Amino acid sequence: MKLISESKINTLSDLIVQSEKIIIITHYNPDGDAMGSSLALYHYLIKKGKSPILVTPNDYPEFLHWLPGNEKVVVYKRQNGTVLNAIKEADLIFTLDFNDLDRTEGMEKFLGESKAKKVLIDHHPDPGNFADLIISETFYSSTAELVFHIIESMNDLDLMTPEIAECIYTGIMTDTGSFNYNSSRPYTYYVVSKLIEKGINKDKIYGNIYDNYSVERMRLFGYCLNQKMEVFPEFHTAFISLSQKELRDFKFVPGDTEGFVNYPLSIKGIRFSAFFIEKDKQVKISFRSKGNFATNKFSQKHFNGGGHINASGGSSSLTLDETIIKFKELLSNYKKDLEKND
Ligand code: 5GP
Ligand code: MN
Repeated sequence: MKLISESKINTLSDLIVQSEKIIIITHYNPDGDAMGSSLALYHYLIKKGKSPILVTPNDYPEFLHWLPGNEKVVVYKRQNGTVLNAIKEADLIFTLDFNDLDRTEGMEKFLGESKAKKVLIDHHPDPGNFADLIISETFYSSTAELVFHIIESMNDLDLMTPEIAECIYTGIMTDTGSFNYNSSRPYTYYVVSKLIEKGINKDKIYGNIYDNYSVERMRLFGYCLNQKMEVFPEFHTAFISLSQKELRDFKFVPGDTEGFVNYPLSIKGIRFSAFFIEKDKQVKISFRSKGNFATNKFSQKHFNGGGHINASGGSSSLTLDETIIKFKELLSNYKKDLEKND
């Protein structure tokens, strides 16, 4: 299996050797793959004798705080002076699990101005052209799986500690919904077999991520399915929405609604699902689909977003109610596309 060219690996290797001040940066609202892939690279670079800094734009859910190296993460929203200085002084910046600098929500200007060499490592379609080296391939289940392949291609699997393996497994598991979607390629299972050889406890990782909810989160989930899910069988579509008041009532903390968007797809005949959550100044939206309905195109066209075919997101500056009306009106334009299902 050779998807990363030898010349890219050689360039990457040279960049790592030549650089002293290295930053790893991932996307806003980091998820399991963002943190898993970034921390895996972080630990790997330490093994290579470097002292990288790992930056996230904002905080991430508590169910990711057990990841090895969590205490070293620098959060831009809380330590922006430290981060901006580091960006100014950096000679190498890795951007992981995103394809557009906008996804750093606030750092894009400084990253754009930085003289550092940039290496993009990602598995989303359409990588931006801001990087000097682009290692971007939608073939991989997750950015974490791609990081594994990079380490393997560098002939460095012997540097892979159980901690690195745990981070990579977390990224693969969360980005595939525990091997539910985007996980039909043999390479993914080759990687998992290697991670198990490295000593990961996959059941413990599953428990750390998915058996870690508060009572309020479970009740919020029940409330969503029972009271807030709207189903449109004629469009093979269902969605869930939550207002700020509802979030307060259920003592919402970031991460509580992670995965909610997937559940409507468990209904027979439903192929397109959306989840709307009211934020301070905008509505954040998640889209999921089964089969060939391209949610990323839908999101890009109507909700300033993007992502993968079957999993994408966007936002709206309308009110929550207006956003939902707009979404419902759009469905009839897509009736034909939603009917096809290969
Ligand atoms: P989620 O629904 O889990 O927040 O995001 C699913 C996927 O959609 C992410 O992996 C990311 O690729 C993409 N995504 C989410 N929100 C946005 C957005 O606002 N803009 C773009 N371009 N992609 C997004
Ligand atoms: Mn990812």
